[in-house]
This record gives sequence, structure tokens and C-alpha cells, in this order.
Amino acid sequence: NVTILKMAQTTEVKGDGQRVTGLVYKDRTSEALHEVELEGIFVQIGLLPNSDWLKGTVELSHFGEIIVDAKGQTNIPGVFAAGDVTTVPYKQIVIAVGEGAKASLSAFDHLIRTSVPA
Ligand SMILES: Cc1cc2nc3c(=O)[nH]c(=O)nc-3n(C[C@H](O)[C@H](O)[C@H](O)COP(=O)(O)OP(=O)(O)OC[C@H]3O[C@@H](n4cnc5c(N)ncnc54)[C@H](O)[C@@H]3O)c2cc1C
Repeated sequence: NVTILKMAQTTEVKGDGQRVTGLVYKDRTSEALHEVELEGIFVQIGLLPNSDWLKGTVELSHFGEIIVDAKGQTNIPGVFAAGDVTTVPYKQIVIAVGEGAKASLSAFDHLIRTSVPA
């Protein structure tokens, strides 16, 4: 008893001030707007990382994710990244936490091999 809507872009969640009552979506093929009456929604994680402010600094993928290697290293030596904002697949808490630990160990490793500037 499930209807799967493909090519649908949510544009508005409607409510009566107390609870959710409906959702408006755009059919991406026809651009037509449709409204569905409903009593609840589940929000799936977004696909656009909040990384605009990094443009022109570290290298980003075409999705806006920070490109990191297996150690969490970006294209700039000494700059590391971890979590959902990176190219590491599967956006899950346990993965983000592990990647954070890995990136911090990589930063430590980088620092102990880097001489102090004169
Ligand atoms: C609706 C939803 C449900 C989810 N359910 C699950 C689940 O059941 N199980 C699971 O494992 N994962 C789930 N996830 C995914 C999980 O939340 C993420 O994988 C995890 O939070 C990623 O951690 P993160 O630290 O990389 O990023 P985030 O938790 O997104 O943390 C990034 C932080 O950086 C801050 N920030 C952004 N830009 C800037 C800036 N310019 N300056 C300073 N701070 C900034 C943000 O405010 C945020 O606090 C869910 C995600 C969503 C959206």
C-alpha cells in the first residue's frame, strides 16, 4: 500500500500550526506542482554539503564534498577533513566519528613529522 513517486522535488511542507498536514512537490519532468495530504514525514539526509565557504581553498568534488584520501588528508598538506562533508561514502554517525578519529591521528602524524618553522 505504498506509492513511490520518482523525480519528485519537495518544495513545501504544510502544517496547521500544530502538526504536518501535507507536502508539496514538483514533478521534475513536467515542473508541475502537486500536493499530497499526509500526517507525517521522514526527512532523508540532504545531498548538498554545506561547503560553499571552502570554494577556492581545499579541492571539492562536483557534489561539493571535500576530497580526502584514506588518511583524511585534503589536497593541502596539513589540512584534514572528516565526516559527511567529505568524499567518504555512507553518511552515518559511526563512520563520521571513525573518520574524525582517523583525521585527528593523521594530523598528529603530520605534525610530529613537520619541523617547527624558524
Ligand atoms: C534526518 C537525518 C537522520 C539521520 N539518521 C541517522 C541515523 O539514524 N543513523 C546514523 O548513523 N546517521 C544518521 N544520519 C546521518 C548523521 O547525522 C551524520 O552522518 C553525522 O551527523 C555526520 O556527522 P558530521 O560531524 O560529519 O556532520 P554534522 O553532524 O552535520 O556536523 C557538522 C557541523 O558543522 C557545523 N557547520 C557547518 N558549516 C559550518 C561553518 N561554516 N562553520 C562552523 N560550523 C559549521 C554544522 O552546524 C554542524 O553542527 C542522519 C542524518 C539526518 C539529516
